[in-house]
Amino acid sequence: MAKHIFVTGGVVSSLGKGIAAASIGRILRSSGLRVTMLKIDPYINVDAGLMNPFQHGEVFVTDDGAETDLDLGHYERFIDVPLTRLSNVTTGQVYKAVIEKERDGKYYLGQTVQVIPHITDEIKERILKCARVAEADVCLTEIGGTVGDIEGQPFLEAIRQLKGDLGEGNVIYVHVTLVPTLTRINEMKTKPTQHSVRELRGVGIHPDILVCRVEQPMSKEMRDKIALFCDIVPEAIIESVDTDCLYEVPLMFERQGVRRLVADALDLSDSDGGLEEWEAIVERSKSPSHEVSIAMVGKYMDVQDAYMSVTEALQHGGVANDARVNINYLESEELHGDNVEELLGDADGILVPGGFGERGMEGKINAINYARTHGVPFLGLCLGLQCAVVEFARNVCGLQGAASKEFTEDTPHPVVIFLKEQEYVTELGGTQRLGEYPCRLEPGSLAHRLYGEDTVMERHRHRYEVNNAYRDSLGRHGMVLSGTSPKGDLVEIIELPGHPYFIASQFHPEFKSRPNRPHPFFQGLIQASLDRKAVAKKLSAVEAT
Ligand code: GLN
Repeated sequence: MAKHIFVTGGVVSSLGKGIAAASIGRILRSSGLRVTMLKIDPYINVDAGLMNPFQHGEVFVTDDGAETDLDLGHYERFIDVPLTRLSNVTTGQVYKAVIEKERDGKYYLGQTVQVIPHITDEIKERILKCARVAEADVCLTEIGGTVGDIEGQPFLEAIRQLKGDLGEGNVIYVHVTLVPTLTRINEMKTKPTQHSVRELRGVGIHPDILVCRVEQPMSKEMRDKIALFCDIVPEAIIESVDTDCLYEVPLMFERQGVRRLVADALDLSDSDGGLEEWEAIVERSKSPSHEVSIAMVGKYMDVQDAYMSVTEALQHGGVANDARVNINYLESEELHGDNVEELLGDADGILVPGGFGERGMEGKINAINYARTHGVPFLGLCLGLQCAVVEFARNVCGLQGAASKEFTEDTPHPVVIFLKEQEYVTELGGTQRLGEYPCRLEPGSLAHRLYGEDTVMERHRHRYEVNNAYRDSLGRHGMVLSGTSPKGDLVEIIELPGHPYFIASQFHPEFKSRPNRPHPFFQGLIQASLDRKAVAKKLSAVEAT
């Protein structure tokens, strides 16, 4: 039977609860335990699929095609275990299941169906199932939102009950709070944390570990004060100091004895070490020898959470190349025909990520045109591939007015069209090509060289694809379709052999990139961008002499 760690948050949202949970997960995994993780999102949506990235950030996709909260991305990057749809539970899912059972008639046998015990039982069963299916030694569950939110109450009640159900020594609670510093008087304030812990105790949960987000390290007095007011031993108060490198958090926790605390409380075998690889990653990412600048041309540039996995994958590519990656987030709408050079002239590499909706599409095409014609390394993801095909069709194949049917219904050259088998789908939620599918690589292609494999599995989230009727024309003009579905009927990867680095995929490689195993497309982009930068530097040195 798995042991359970429940992570709640208080004071404010966006405290990095996901990172805190994932960091504990990493520590336990490094000591040889089987770990799984689960995120509870108390909103009514069934999943994150239809949620606006402006509000909610990236939609993360699992192997089995669930559209989930971006925290699952953090979990996978930290614990390096693929998760499934069982790892994201929402209020919508829970109520939907309970209402369906009620309508079915056989489950509740005439009872009044209520939050306690029916909703809470459904929640508990989902948590236990996630742990059971993963055959985990430890299951970490993060409760989204903050303690005191109305939506969160049934979930807090469910995790409270689980301690009684599973028994002492099998369940612990970690509470993440903020200890703000009032800058004018330069003083740390513990009161919000006290209130938050009181609120949690009010629902019957006593935290075993308190993680305090702080701007600077806490003094001993501060720790003792929190310990006294919150009825927690000082050693169980862990500070989480702001850091630019997320991957440092497990090391920070480990130095404060988190492994020991958890192992003692849950009676787990406690083996030291295992974080050496992690230390090396942090070391390299904090003091790299090189630097490179990547322009990311997308649509939600004010909310960088919308591209969380892409940003992380670029950083992984940087770590692998001993380079700091400076990402310049550019709003694609701002790239007109005449300012492309001005906006992209300094970029060592260009990336066009996935997206939905027409806004900014032409700007992305302009950026890709610039990358193609100026030899700037380019990586396109999903919509990025579709835009690259449109650009090439228009400007190289001479197909005037070529476009994606997603945006231009009456185009004379629909080079990107709706996935055939879904032509008649009208309901939007959950009807895309989602999750992991195999992709066969063309021997001798850049993609094949980068992966070093013949067939790869990658995650998808799209409705449109390259129109097979245009494959000949694209191929004749020099575009190589270097990855396809095994039957050959879907284009998965395109590339341009004459270009230093021009590659795009219909799938989302960013979802599988890990700090310790960077995805080859991102590693390749950073490497090509560094090469380009080195050549440019040499050229300007020659010009100067
Ligand atoms: N909107 C495009 C499609 O549905 C691309 C999707 C994406 O980039 N994730 O095919």
